[in-house]
Amino acid sequence: SQTNPAAKDEHCDLYIESDRTGMTVQTLKRAFVDNLHYIQGKDAMFATPYDYFMALAYTVRDRLLHRRIKTAQTYFEQDAKVVYYLSAEFLIGRLLLNNLINVGLYEQTKQAMADFGLDLNELMDREPEPGLGNGGLGRLAACFLDSLATLEIPAVGYGIRYEFGIFEQIITNGWQHEVPDNWLRFGNPWEIARPDYNVEVKFGGHTEAYTDAQGHYRVRWIPSTTVFGTPYDTPIPGYGKNTVNTLRLWSARAAQDFNLQVFNAGDYTQAVSEKTFSENISKVLYPNDNTPQGKELRLRQQYFFVSCSLQDIIRLYLRRHTSFDAFPDKVAIQLNDTHPAIGVAELMRLLVDEYQLGWEKAWDITQRTFAYTNHTLLAEALERWSVDLFGQLLPRHLEIIYEINYRFLNEIRLRYPGNTARLARMSLIEESYPKQVRMAHLACVGSHTVNGVAELHTELIKEELLRDFYEMYPHKFQNKTNGITPRRWLLMSNPPLASLITETLKSDRWITHLEDLRGLEPYATDPAFQAKWQQVKQANKERLAEYIWRNNQIEVDPYSLFDIQVKRIHEYKRQHLAVLHIITLYEQIKANPNIDLQPRTFIFGGKAAPGYFMAKMIIKLINSVADMVNHDSDVNGRLKVVFLSNYSVSLGEMVYPAADLSEQISTAGKEASGTGNMKFALNGALTIGTLDGANVEIRQEVGAENFFLFGLTAQEVMSLKAEGYNPHEYYNSNPMLKKVIDSLISDYFNPREPGLFEPIVNSLLNEDQYMLLADYQSYVDCQQRVAQAFRDKSHWTQMSILNVARMGKFSSDRTIAEYCKDIWHVEPVPVSLDTCRPAFR
Ligand code: PLP
Repeated sequence: SQTNPAAKDEHCDLYIESDRTGMTVQTLKRAFVDNLHYIQGKDAMFATPYDYFMALAYTVRDRLLHRRIKTAQTYFEQDAKVVYYLSAEFLIGRLLLNNLINVGLYEQTKQAMADFGLDLNELMDREPEPGLGNGGLGRLAACFLDSLATLEIPAVGYGIRYEFGIFEQIITNGWQHEVPDNWLRFGNPWEIARPDYNVEVKFGGHTEAYTDAQGHYRVRWIPSTTVFGTPYDTPIPGYGKNTVNTLRLWSARAAQDFNLQVFNAGDYTQAVSEKTFSENISKVLYPNDNTPQGKELRLRQQYFFVSCSLQDIIRLYLRRHTSFDAFPDKVAIQLNDTHPAIGVAELMRLLVDEYQLGWEKAWDITQRTFAYTNHTLLAEALERWSVDLFGQLLPRHLEIIYEINYRFLNEIRLRYPGNTARLARMSLIEESYPKQVRMAHLACVGSHTVNGVAELHTELIKEELLRDFYEMYPHKFQNKTNGITPRRWLLMSNPPLASLITETLKSDRWITHLEDLRGLEPYATDPAFQAKWQQVKQANKERLAEYIWRNNQIEVDPYSLFDIQVKRIHEYKRQHLAVLHIITLYEQIKANPNIDLQPRTFIFGGKAAPGYFMAKMIIKLINSVADMVNHDSDVNGRLKVVFLSNYSVSLGEMVYPAADLSEQISTAGKEASGTGNMKFALNGALTIGTLDGANVEIRQEVGAENFFLFGLTAQEVMSLKAEGYNPHEYYNSNPMLKKVIDSLISDYFNPREPGLFEPIVNSLLNEDQYMLLADYQSYVDCQQRVAQAFRDKSHWTQMSILNVARMGKFSSDRTIAEYCKDIWHVEPVPVSLDTCRPAFR
């Protein structure tokens, strides 16, 4: 499927020249020089590494666009059902290497660059990272795009083209500081603007009732402002397939660049202020993970990209249809969390107000089109918007939501007569002060399917979070355990392990059939294979050690146990529980400097939401403990603590392959799934974890004997809370725990800033919402078992191999195949490059 299509294209009406499609070293070299000259306007005398990166990116993009055009033609001709994945975040990572690998150009390109004396790795390093997401949720959307294209599923990702992505994290004096991420500063070679597909989005104003020509009651919305959305398309190639799908991100453009009257009156700044205000909509990603802020601009962002996307979806649908009857058979829309849930009301508005459908018909179409993925059980993370704000910004949508709610509550009254408590619990409107719109309820009522992202999470949705809804609509609820793409997270980020696997299995089929990794099991105890496995891990650890030396000026022992926790900093993820363990080991050394102790390097990375005080404090705590431990002569280098700044997809690509131990230590029942846990295990790290999220299933797959389990279960957490949890009891009855907490109280780690960690100590001793103290001893004991196990190199390696061999289930290809079959009802649509079609109509 990846032969040079140029010859065939000569017979098409328009000859597509082979420099733009050819796959050989020779054509790539010609194309590269061409792009360097005619896009960058440079030659070798003046070209900078950035010019070379751009010229190469355009060379690759041409090959993608050729496939993109064929893909679009094929979908159109077959009137294929399309999946539209709506997500406020897409954390796609750098694209050059991913595109080279997926489209089958990597080896030739490396050679072509080498022929010019250029190092492909250095060019790849020039690419800015698009950080258009916070963490797991945005990265999941990116893995799904890769799997959709690889499975040849017609799909579009819709989101926001944030001008500033997730902030850059800088650590000074142990504290996090945030720097704006101006990722588009040098331009973006992958995207194509499509101003001809601009759409208009309305805000504010009021509504008016009127009677149409047929005598029907209608409503129109008279907005107070409008903005335009311009789509920017990024091609998304499938691995080893001709399919290239699209990620379409919307950028806000002012309806009017200029207020001429104000300008003529002499006030230039005022004349452009409206433009600035409108264009702020797509300016910056909200840097909160699992904690929504009820900010007006955030609601504007959500409505903006959803309205743009739905108008675009309808435009595409109407190219082939004259009525909406077949809409749910041709369109599947997935809501990635509640961020795009306003889409339920927006599709109703478009169908009823703009296309004049009756309510019942519109509602039937809406419900058969949407499906909703829930991503969190944390009560504080559930999106709610004040009814006042909602009414001001989206007056027509508030009316529609009230109408949906009126009909929904009547349905409940019929099913559960006299049950007013249930009505209040299930209503789309929370009768609090101020009144709130519950977005999860809107998403749930407006969708045919609601899914959780791991088995435990889905069970907790059904039993706790949306219990009333589950009782009423049990058929709506499904589980879809998350997954990760093996392309980025093994093939691309861990080439030595990928090669060893391919060589051992004598096949690279595992790249698209991850369950093939099972074939490694017979080698798990083979000493020769174990030695190769260890060499790979050691090389990856040494690479990370060098990075740490360059970035943190900390010398770490690459033979020590690399114990790693990288993810957003959050109390529920309990980075501070890992700190309590580090202090425990430190206290043991201080009490007995000659203690025989497994050397460890503790590596942390992750961003804190800028307004999340406790998370920022945890970063400071890690760095303060690091300062003390790393420089204590009693420790003598046996423990090192490192905080890697600015955790990102690129950093993850280096970190996951270098881990011996993966820390997945959230309070049971709090982490919906986790995907970092899968990335570590797929790269041969063993997990220390609670029975939370997908850890449960990872342990099931890899075997309990190859997983370090500790801590309370979700049920035990709930029972203990119900009984009345008292962290003081643990503090008073456990001398080591007391010693560790007392070291924080005594300012031992922060002698120059007395009282610094009081908020952490107070939170642990007085409330301990996430039950660190309850899980402390179990965690420390488990870590002791880890240390023991690491000393038996051969057995540890065996466990590592078995983890990788049994990770097949966690490919996002499996996840997406399940969504396709059980939720979207879509089939693969293979794309051929050989079909000639006229280039012009
Ligand atoms: N951030 C990045 C860059 C990731 O790759 C991941 C992992 O999938 C996450 C955040 C989420 O990590 P976790 O699932 O451990 O919370």
